Amino acid sequence: MIPQLNHSPGQTDITRKFLQQLPLQGFTGDIGQQYADRLSMATDNSIYQNLPDAILFPKTVADIVLIVQLAAQEAFNALTFTPRGGGTGTNGQSLNNGIVVDLSRHMNAILEFNAKEGWVRVEAGVVKDQLNAWLKPQGFFFAPELSTSNRATIGGMVNTDASGQGSLVYGKTSNHVLGTRAVLLNGEVIDTAPLSSEQAVLKGEGASREATIYREVMSSCLDNRELIEQKFPKLNRFLTGYDLRHVYAHDEQRFDLTRILCGAEGSLAFIAEVKLNVLPLPKVRQLINIKYDSFDSALRNAPFLVEANALSVETVDSTVLNLAREDIVWHSVSELITDVDGQTMQGINLVEFAGNDLEQVEQQVAALCRKLDDLCNAQQAGVIGYQCCGELDQVERIYAMRKKAVGLLGNAKGRAKPIPFVEDTAVPPEHLADYITEFRAILDSHQLSYGMFGHVDAGVLHVRPALDMTLPEQHQLMLTISDQVAALTRRYGGLLWGEHGKGYRSAYSEDFFGPELYHQLRRIKTAFDPGNRLNPGKICQPLDSNSPLLAIDSPTRGSFDRQIPVSVRESWRGAMDCNGNGLCFNFDVNSPMCPSMKVTRDRVHSPKGRATLVREWLRLLSEHNIDPDSIDSGQGLSLRALSQKVKNSWRAHQGDYDFSHEVKESMNGCLACKACATQCPIKINVPEFRARFLELYHTRYLRPVSDHIVANIEPLLPVMAKAPRFINFFLTKPWVNQLSRRYVGMIDLPPLSYPTLRTQLVGHPATTTTLADLQSMTEAQREKYVVVVQDPFTSFYEANLVHDLIQLISRLGYKPVLLPFVPNGKPQQVKGFLKRFARTAQKSADLLNQVAALNLPLVGTDPALVLCYRDEYKLLGNRRGEFNVQLAHEWLSKAVLTSSLHIQTQGEWYLFAHCTEVTALPSSTQQWKEIFARYGATLHSINAGCCGMAGTYGHEASNSENSRQIFTLSWQPQLADKPKDRCLATGFSCRSQVKRFGGGKIKHPLQALLQILN
Ligand SMILES: Cc1cc2nc3c(=O)[nH]c(=O)nc-3n(C[C@H](O)[C@H](O)[C@H](O)COP(=O)(O)OP(=O)(O)OC[C@H]3O[C@@H](n4cnc5c(N)ncnc54)[C@H](O)[C@@H]3O)c2cc1C
Ligand code: SF4
Ligand code: SF4
Repeated sequence: MIPQLNHSPGQTDITRKFLQQLPLQGFTGDIGQQYADRLSMATDNSIYQNLPDAILFPKTVADIVLIVQLAAQEAFNALTFTPRGGGTGTNGQSLNNGIVVDLSRHMNAILEFNAKEGWVRVEAGVVKDQLNAWLKPQGFFFAPELSTSNRATIGGMVNTDASGQGSLVYGKTSNHVLGTRAVLLNGEVIDTAPLSSEQAVLKGEGASREATIYREVMSSCLDNRELIEQKFPKLNRFLTGYDLRHVYAHDEQRFDLTRILCGAEGSLAFIAEVKLNVLPLPKVRQLINIKYDSFDSALRNAPFLVEANALSVETVDSTVLNLAREDIVWHSVSELITDVDGQTMQGINLVEFAGNDLEQVEQQVAALCRKLDDLCNAQQAGVIGYQCCGELDQVERIYAMRKKAVGLLGNAKGRAKPIPFVEDTAVPPEHLADYITEFRAILDSHQLSYGMFGHVDAGVLHVRPALDMTLPEQHQLMLTISDQVAALTRRYGGLLWGEHGKGYRSAYSEDFFGPELYHQLRRIKTAFDPGNRLNPGKICQPLDSNSPLLAIDSPTRGSFDRQIPVSVRESWRGAMDCNGNGLCFNFDVNSPMCPSMKVTRDRVHSPKGRATLVREWLRLLSEHNIDPDSIDSGQGLSLRALSQKVKNSWRAHQGDYDFSHEVKESMNGCLACKACATQCPIKINVPEFRARFLELYHTRYLRPVSDHIVANIEPLLPVMAKAPRFINFFLTKPWVNQLSRRYVGMIDLPPLSYPTLRTQLVGHPATTTTLADLQSMTEAQREKYVVVVQDPFTSFYEANLVHDLIQLISRLGYKPVLLPFVPNGKPQQVKGFLKRFARTAQKSADLLNQVAALNLPLVGTDPALVLCYRDEYKLLGNRRGEFNVQLAHEWLSKAVLTSSLHIQTQGEWYLFAHCTEVTALPSSTQQWKEIFARYGATLHSINAGCCGMAGTYGHEASNSENSRQIFTLSWQPQLADKPKDRCLATGFSCRSQVKRFGGGKIKHPLQALLQILN
């Protein structure tokens, strides 16, 4: 049995007292102080790990004011605070050991919009894509771009002065910030906006902190104007902390304090609200994907493309291209970047033209295409081909792939993982190709592998060398390369921190600016934060502070992982490999990733949160010298073990601490929908390690009754189906539902099908033909047979659907045979009864292999269960065999082509595909569309996230509220404006959920097809 992990790093007394006081002062936000909460904020996408003491989630500006006012009391002087947004920094900007203040959970409202003047006012926690989705119908957009746009917040963007693709035209975040509402550490709330220099002088009068700040910033900028001009880079990119160069306009007549706050990395003030300049959406966007024989050719060709007046030029190398090819994202772009016959594509440039005049943009594209044809024909500049994307949807798909590329760079096989520490250098674009040659030489001299891409138009290079940070010598190598690249970049007149900010790399700052200017930066810090209490250790210290900056050599995630034995790390790679890029925080309610995160807005309930907790759990087990893989999960069957479990569970009930409970809590919230397993760039498969964790957790603690019910549902259903009306009599009674909620922990259990499948198919050849019959036939006799594989949910709760599948198969001229029901095992797997699951799976695989040996198609209906044969059954190794159960659409795609029926029908249908299916089989909706199209029917695929049911998750009483809320996020609004009888869902869970909360029954697409054919 696993040991009790009763020790977690404690909080300081002063933090505890502060957190006790805060609600008494009227703080309305959330407070996170469990170890799990703190761990979920201990990392970002950087290599570092730093455990905060507590997390605060304010709901209003007043909440932030309360925090700082209480903190101003002498008793709390030692406390420090670090603002946090999406936590997607690559340099540890939002990591610190004091109190983290997360503005992303609650402060995410769009407050005011003025189309005439072209601005919007938002709370700092608004996500960039959330804002643009809101602005799109108004015809506007917030222009600065960044790869993490679906999870990075405006507060984070302002504080890192984020920028990316299109920066030559659209600039950086700071170019679009018209003003901020900021909370200073003494509780003053200030509004910043551009002022005349006279107004700024007036602002600087008085004794307030704001006045001091104005005086100090004015003096620092004016007194050091020459030095500032000389030292600040003239690149397209700014650098974070602090923009002394742009506070005054060139003529010194305008002053804007906002420019100091932009890029401050949370070290000066809390940005609570931001007023942003927004631009009209360009009406036309076109992209040319140019293919090259080498990455170097692509880089060297970039200036030629910029000269063609392109909006942006982005370069991607072959390593990144190949990573994208292996990811689900490739599915959406494969036809837009096809291979060139007889050539190997080693790099591409993505060149965008945009504007409001279609003719003009088309002329620009045509002109460049002519030049590219010439280069191709003359075999010059390494150009081997190109493709144009004229549709907005195509342009967006290419950029979605490009945005995922940084995340994909983190995905590599083996123990060395591509890591960010020199990943965003910027040099003058004209020197980029030579600079990269030298950069590569450094990496090659250490025999490192790496992938590269960049905003070549701006001279920014993204590269993540692969290192195994659990090895002390590789940690040392990271430090060496860091120094070498810093020196190289300086030699080229560039920046080490060209795009993603300084964070733990602030240490290079003094060397870059020189002592005089660095002194001015410290002066600014002193004016805002004399006590060094805001994100200490980043950018610089106040003048009279001796506390050091956080070192490049600070504790990394690798230094914690190192404490876990290699064999355990290898075995639990699924959890160990998460690199924290945060794609699983995707704000978009219509995307499948990750329903539990979306509904709770709690990072503990994200794939990253779950992976982080399991990593720490493995580390704590290692401290106890426990190898989780050596624990016998079967020992719980002995009487002694059982009584021990009863004791442990009782103690847990009494509040006895065990870190495993925190991990369990996080796992309980997971729907096992598996979106993470395909959508995450690293393919973090939470359900896989969740099942293993649950099995081990219950070696120590009793399982709830509902677990046993779920695990036994498959063998129970055939028995219950013998008396469906009797069972339904009880299942449909409200008092049974109440009792079940209270004592079993399950609710809204659906009634069994009546008439049962057996009754419906009595005497049908599909049930009278046996496996032995099939085996005794010749191959020619078997030719038209199709074997229907039952699953527990469809066969016993939706018998009509199986019946309809059999009808459809017959209607298409084939001979259906219903394979006797054998449990699939998925419910056992989900609940972590892994030993039992292996036995169930083996039995089922043995039967399916017998059919497969006859070369007959096997067809099932429910995506979650059919896909279980493909994925979870891998646990059987070679004993799984080669059988393949197809989903209805996979078989139909081939069958309708050979069918002689030519029916023409009218009508529109709406397909809500199961989230596990769309993520694992991204072409499934397209295949359904094509099947419907053959019969003249139009099928629209609806982008909806998870329905909130996910097997039995939605029936568990503890999840019922979240299940309902997940449904209302995306499914409910998508269903609301469509005729219910035209809405189709492939998942049994989804149809049940619609029946439960959507007020009606919807069909499986195969039933609609049968209707069309009939
Ligand atoms: C895969 C990947 C790709 C990326 N691509 C890009 C890119 O193309 N361009 C780019 O510029 N960056 C990029 N980044 C870096 C990162 O996404 C940006 O720096 C982003 O702006 C951070 O936003 P966030 O909300 O996640 O902020 P966080 O990481 O939470 O915080 C960043 C900094 O801002 C401060 N902060 C956050 N909110 C506030 C607030 N309300 N008040 C005061 N301070 C605050 C924090 O203290 C911290 O110092 C990438 C990161 C990853 C992981
Ligand atoms: S789970 Fe995947 S998407 Fe989420 S942070 Fe980890 S690696 Fe990124
Ligand atoms: S399985 Fe689904 S709910 Fe669970 S972590 Fe992955 S995406 Fe989130």
